[in-house]
Amino acid sequence: MFLKGITIATLSACFAVAFAQQGIGDPTFPHLGNKGYRAEHYDLKLNYAPETSVLKADVTMSGSADQDLSSFQVDFAGFTVTLVRLNGLPVQYSRSGDKLTIKPTKPLPKGSKFRLETLYFGKPDVVQSAALPAGMKSGWIRFAGGAAAICEPELAHTWFPCNDHPLNKATFDVDISTPVGYSAISNGKELRISPTRVHFVMDKPGSTCMALVVVGKFTSFKQAGPNGLSMVNYIPTGEEAIYAKRLAVDAKFMEFLSAKIGAYPYSTYGVLVLPDAVSKVNMLMAGSALETTTLPVFGPQAVADGTLCHEMAHQWMGNCVSVTNWGDDLWWVEGFAQYSEWLQVEMTEGKDAYDKAALAVFGQVASSPHWLKPGHVSAADLFSEHTYIGGALTFYALRRQIGDEKFFQTIHQFIDEHKFSSATTQDLIGVASKVSGQDLKPFFDAWLFGEALPKMPQ
Ligand SMILES: [Zn+2]
Repeated sequence: MFLKGITIATLSACFAVAFAQQGIGDPTFPHLGNKGYRAEHYDLKLNYAPETSVLKADVTMSGSADQDLSSFQVDFAGFTVTLVRLNGLPVQYSRSGDKLTIKPTKPLPKGSKFRLETLYFGKPDVVQSAALPAGMKSGWIRFAGGAAAICEPELAHTWFPCNDHPLNKATFDVDISTPVGYSAISNGKELRISPTRVHFVMDKPGSTCMALVVVGKFTSFKQAGPNGLSMVNYIPTGEEAIYAKRLAVDAKFMEFLSAKIGAYPYSTYGVLVLPDAVSKVNMLMAGSALETTTLPVFGPQAVADGTLCHEMAHQWMGNCVSVTNWGDDLWWVEGFAQYSEWLQVEMTEGKDAYDKAALAVFGQVASSPHWLKPGHVSAADLFSEHTYIGGALTFYALRRQIGDEKFFQTIHQFIDEHKFSSATTQDLIGVASKVSGQDLKPFFDAWLFGEALPKMPQ
């Protein structure tokens, strides 16, 4: 995520188990996500009318039981649920807080596959995330002429039932119907069914909070990507001339980043720019961007070279490899994306300009009373200078510590080893130490957890 205001410039197996209000195990969000099963695929059939803001949905989660389950939970808030089916048959369910509890007639045996279908309708709306600045409500953002679902880190379940944590990635089919004259867009490859219905396929696993649905009036245009990659951008209809040139940098940076840290992990890429109408309802969102899988979404004031590179870098770091828990791991997700804005400077202006940009920020931080140690943050500080600036400087220092070749080899290998999964800070330290031949624990201890700003390696 790129947030307006945070910039470099400014700085048991034998028993059937019931899980009651117990999360997936992330201390940052103790109630988020669920244990006992894994969602493998989501099939979302959505019908949304911007004029009435009513969403009608039929969502099927295909999953597998990790152990015998007499009941299990999914994250889901709001809406009127009209029917829940398990493996094609109506099933007993109850709702409490943000959990939908399913009680199968007979326990689901460990290892069994299941299909959970939920039919519901209602008017989705914005919610105040515990991790975002007060007033920056997100979730289902309605604006004149459309809506956009923007959900990091914990709001996907405010519009579809899911296991809402990056520890449980899944593939997606999203089928959206709209009234005549609207476009609907989601992650992955677009298959148009009719003028009022479109289907998107995301065949590689992604996090629930990086699922995107946007409805409005958009025009798509293709851009030639490196190595035959399909790059499709979606911009507000009538604004093609404004954005076509500004988005051209993406193809070059895709080539640059793929060469540095490994092949792009998905089969499509593009960006979506929201219309100015979003500024009227959410000023902060208008200047922010989010790395929704394969298709980052940008507020109209956020389209800039650095931010384009930031969100692209997240496709590797954050989407292909995600956090294990938000508070301990977001620094390497946001830190690397923020660091990649300096890589964009290096690509366009050379190594000296890259060093100058990074050292200017290091100087600013050195003159402030507190080091922005990034290694562990609370929910309220997830999207703060700690993770962005502290994290970016940690990557910059690591490159100076181990050299260019071993630095990029570390990033490449870390992504490769944890592809389409989650990783931890310890995993990253392990790869960096192995690749460099140095014991980097003291280095990372100082940069991630030290009370004082460490010395920059020569
Ligand atoms: Zn970011």
